[in-house]
Amino acid sequence: MQTLLVSCVTSPVDIASLPLEALTAFLTEKLGEKPFRAKQIFRWLHQRGATRFEEMTDLSKDLRARLAAAAHIGVVEKDLEQRSADGTIKYRFKTHDGKLVESVYMPSPDRKTLCVSTQVGCAMACSFCATGTLGLKRNLTPSEIVAQIHQVNREVRANENITSTLRPLTNLVFMGMGEPLHNFENLKTALSILQHEDGPNFSSRHITVSTVGLVPMIERFGQETNVKLAISLNASDDETRSKIMPVNRKWNIEALLDACRKFPLKQGRRITFEYVLMEGVNDSDADAARLVKLLQDIPAKVNLIQYNNNPGLGFHSTQDSRAEVFREALAKGHVAAFIRQNRGRDIAAACGQLANVESPS
Ligand code: SF4
Repeated sequence: MQTLLVSCVTSPVDIASLPLEALTAFLTEKLGEKPFRAKQIFRWLHQRGATRFEEMTDLSKDLRARLAAAAHIGVVEKDLEQRSADGTIKYRFKTHDGKLVESVYMPSPDRKTLCVSTQVGCAMACSFCATGTLGLKRNLTPSEIVAQIHQVNREVRANENITSTLRPLTNLVFMGMGEPLHNFENLKTALSILQHEDGPNFSSRHITVSTVGLVPMIERFGQETNVKLAISLNASDDETRSKIMPVNRKWNIEALLDACRKFPLKQGRRITFEYVLMEGVNDSDADAARLVKLLQDIPAKVNLIQYNNNPGLGFHSTQDSRAEVFREALAKGHVAAFIRQNRGRDIAAACGQLANVESPS
């Protein structure tokens, strides 16, 4: 590992952050190689999850040496793993410069989902969220985003005795640490790698990106990617939303929903609205009625998430019975709503709890 870390510092090109086209240009222009080599290396990196050039055994020793001299492979290292009683596993990864990010693996009978981080910390400062208390340390690179998926694929294969080389993860949600659209260029590159047929080849239907509502970026996201959109809404009026989500002071609910109405939805898709239920903050009958009105003309589904307690932040979870009343009110107003199963609460892996803090497993 030591040589890899030295290589990270001394070689400027991170080839695991390059889409295939850019990798092809690098191989042909800088190393004088044939274009097919790029595809070979891309497959090593993003289908097999190789983290060292030595693993690429069908490349000549000479080429591997020249690659190691001219480039490095951006990786993240597993630093900590915590297992929940419900099967959820929280992984903490360390970047080459010692920063920590978390990814949450959520297996269920019909899918294996990973919640992925896009930034170290977060600048959005949502007052109910543990990550928000960290502030933004830095953006993750495309390779650091993609490496979370490669690492967890490897872990799942080992833990579940999967011998197939196909990726076990089936679904990705970008709802971990950070605001994905605040790191849009790196997110976009990571998505293009993750969806590439010579890479992990995820379908656009199986990837969801969640945003607090960076309105201009929602438009770009709709034009420049093809994956699914989720909005972290969490309030039915501007006063409340601005209190708990400062982003609302810049782009209010009307501006956000206007961007949603203009979003180029693929046929059969809806926008997911996440609504974290906090007792006495946003869970009243009046909130439900306002939410019905707000979403009336948007193809929407609402995921109701009972707040996960973060000591010191001052918010409390809505009771189960209140959550059900809230869901019914939305359903009566013809808004599809689901109470989402809360996963990984006991290891602080649930929504809004990712803050690099160890908790008992
Ligand atoms: S909820 Fe999301 S956007 Fe808000 S502070 Fe937490 S990580 Fe950042």
